[in-house]
Amino acid sequence: MAVQKFEVVLDSARMITPRVRELAFRRKDGAVLDFEPGQFISVMIQSPEKLLRRSYSIATVPESGDELLRIAVAHVEGGRATSHLFAMQPGDELPAIGPAGRFVLRDDGHCRYVLLATGTGVTPYRAFLPELRRRLKDPKNSVDLVLGVRNPEELLYGEDFLAMEEEFGNFRFFACYSRDMPETPRERDRKGYVQEHLDELALDPAHDVIYLCGNPGMIDAAAEYCDKAGFPIANVRREKYVSSN
Ligand SMILES: Cc1cc2nc3c(=O)[nH]c(=O)nc-3n(C[C@H](O)[C@H](O)[C@H](O)COP(=O)(O)OP(=O)(O)OC[C@H]3O[C@@H](n4cnc5c(N)ncnc54)[C@H](O)[C@@H]3O)c2cc1C
Repeated sequence: MAVQKFEVVLDSARMITPRVRELAFRRKDGAVLDFEPGQFISVMIQSPEKLLRRSYSIATVPESGDELLRIAVAHVEGGRATSHLFAMQPGDELPAIGPAGRFVLRDDGHCRYVLLATGTGVTPYRAFLPELRRRLKDPKNSVDLVLGVRNPEELLYGEDFLAMEEEFGNFRFFACYSRDMPETPRERDRKGYVQEHLDELALDPAHDVIYLCGNPGMIDAAAEYCDKAGFPIANVRREKYVSSN
């Protein structure tokens, strides 16, 4: 899919956790953005010093009939772009480019996908869900999704992953809470950071494909773990959430 330049208009916005605002945009030209699940768009925001370019994973679930371009933005203390994105009102416009990125599902044959995320880093995995549903019908495939957040209120899109767990015996959803555990923890709720729970997954370089998304610290720690475990570099796919300028 070729990268395109277009203007987006804010249609609506809502807080989906205490620190994450989901913004739903329309393209000003009326076109619907075609994208591969896992890709991102970049928006341009004028700060007092310079034009900032900021990337956000596309949170729209494909095949759901939703034609809006959704992004989930975490509040960053003192963040230049996020303060603008949190203040935007319906009708406000931004220049954007996209879709871009290679953090997408590939044809990996039978495997276990181990999808690790912190916070809004889980957004691409939500976009993967329709394709994962198709793949999970084959019992030779499985998915372990591990999401790290601070507390239960921040379990972004948690209900979607819990529903997957209900639907498929070969989909497991682990939540890692770095600060507060739920009052009644589920079987797969854990205390601590994502990277502290990798032993439990018994990673297998011959069968597993790893995706890492979100906080650079988690990604570096998990990638190092996979490297030591003997994973080929092509099977450890990463998307670090950092600012580009
Ligand atoms: C491919 C890609 C996809 C991304 N997708 C998303 C997404 O879906 N949702 C999302 O919320 N972000 C995403 N990001 C991160 C996003 O692009 C910005 O970096 C983020 O919103 C902060 O921008 P800012 O201008 O507000 O902060 P800045 O003004 O750049 O940073 C302010 C301060 O906060 C620190 N900081 C920057 N980012 C974070 C953070 N995430 N957490 C804590 N501290 C931080 C900086 O080091 C700096 O000290 C993505 C990044 C990339 C490269």
